[in-house]
Amino acid sequence: MSSNTQKHYDMIAIGAGSGGLSAVERASEYGKKCAVIEVKTIGGTCVNVGCVPKKVMWFAANSATSIKNAKGFGFDIDLKGFSWKKLKKGRDNYINNITNWYDGYLEDLGIDYIHGFGKLVDKNTIVVNGEHYTAEHIVLSPGGEPTVPHIKGAEYGITSDGFFELKDLPKKVAVIGGGYIGVELAGVLNALGSKVEVFGRADKLLNGFDPMIQNALEKDYTAHGIKIHHKTQIDKLSKDLTISTNNGDFTGFDQVIWAVGRDPMTQHLGLENAGVFCNQRGFIPTDEFQVTNVDNIFALGDATGRTPLTPVAIAAGRRLSDRIYNNMTDRHLDYNNIATVVFSHPPIGTIGLTEAQANEQFDKVKIYKSEFTPMADALLEHKTTTALKLVCTGDDEKVVGCHIMGHGADEMLQGFAVAIKMGATKKQFDDTVAIHPTSAEELVTMR
Ligand SMILES: Cc1cc2nc3c(=O)[nH]c(=O)nc-3n(C[C@H](O)[C@H](O)[C@H](O)COP(=O)(O)OP(=O)(O)OC[C@H]3O[C@@H](n4cnc5c(N)ncnc54)[C@H](O)[C@@H]3O)c2cc1C
Repeated sequence: MSSNTQKHYDMIAIGAGSGGLSAVERASEYGKKCAVIEVKTIGGTCVNVGCVPKKVMWFAANSATSIKNAKGFGFDIDLKGFSWKKLKKGRDNYINNITNWYDGYLEDLGIDYIHGFGKLVDKNTIVVNGEHYTAEHIVLSPGGEPTVPHIKGAEYGITSDGFFELKDLPKKVAVIGGGYIGVELAGVLNALGSKVEVFGRADKLLNGFDPMIQNALEKDYTAHGIKIHHKTQIDKLSKDLTISTNNGDFTGFDQVIWAVGRDPMTQHLGLENAGVFCNQRGFIPTDEFQVTNVDNIFALGDATGRTPLTPVAIAAGRRLSDRIYNNMTDRHLDYNNIATVVFSHPPIGTIGLTEAQANEQFDKVKIYKSEFTPMADALLEHKTTTALKLVCTGDDEKVVGCHIMGHGADEMLQGFAVAIKMGATKKQFDDTVAIHPTSAEELVTMR
């Protein structure tokens, strides 16, 4: 197509990740003509360098732990070897299959896939590789990329993207950042056999999580050999991977991983050409209907700076198309009570308010909690902790927060999230007969 023969669409999404794809998929189901623009690989962060490859690595790490733990159940086995290369190859193939599948899927839905960098020209026009495309509705879903700090030698470190490119298991790794990505990568590497040290700026890992979770995780990570450095500010990274900090120098690493946050990919999007506002950090604010300050331009997912999770971007995208193309005038995503899981070892599931947040917002707060060694670990030398907390408010003890660390927390939380979203009370939890013997039963039997 030449630049003079502009192609017109009902909806174009910039960014074929979780958010953009879901918006155009749903719009096309309503018979709308759509296109999606992608500069890297279809599927975006989640499929290529996020949730999916991360979860494969988590499963691999769990396998390593299970093999080590098998002794406790009487098996006479030793872990004789592990091939990172084989794991990586299998993981890469799995992801390639997913991304290849998308091509046919988009074709079946009649969605045009445009490969290249999309830039706004005006409020209805986007340019990609010199070609112009127009649309009645434009969805900005460019996601984010890992932050690399502006310090001397930062380029000697890698990010989570680089972690997925590693050709071998590093012997000794420094993970810089105690947020969920840092915690997850640390857990995987430790279980697979690396020596791991985590450097965080705060005085706890997982800033913002309930302290019960922070403390339980730290106890288990430390017990399983991960060294944690708190209140540590990195000043410089040398070529030999010596890390200079406010607490001295640390050496001997063969990889340093920056896990210090993610920046929105909005810098070169041409927002100014269409008059779209973004804040100082580059995030594009929207109203509750995902509308930016320009009425036909919407923003979704990580680039909005709100709850950066795949299902959030997907839900927002689908609801947006339901609203604008299927007459569901009030359809929008409620960002409250969104459950989330940290794939640490053991995993963490959390929804709603922490104890401190509840105390700030409500007069009457009642906490139920329990901490124990799960039955799964009873015969093992290296045990883990299961920690559970329900945060309840008011006379009827409405459950406004649920925090879990322990085996199965990742799968446990989804069902409880439904109950909490529906406004369940502690009495309704108690009226639910327990499933025994499980860890989850504690959530309906706590006193
Ligand atoms: C290591 C890691 C682990 C994660 N684990 C989880 C998890 O377990 N669960 C979970 O829910 N979330 C997880 N996430 C977060 C999740 O991946 C994101 O929240 C989600 O992908 C956001 O979707 P999005 O559509 O906003 O952006 P993305 O999925 O990032 O997609 C945006 C796409 O837009 C493209 N793009 C950007 N600018 C342009 C442009 N100008 N033109 C064309 N294309 C452009 C990008 O290349 C990208 O492919 C993880 C993230 C990381 C990094």
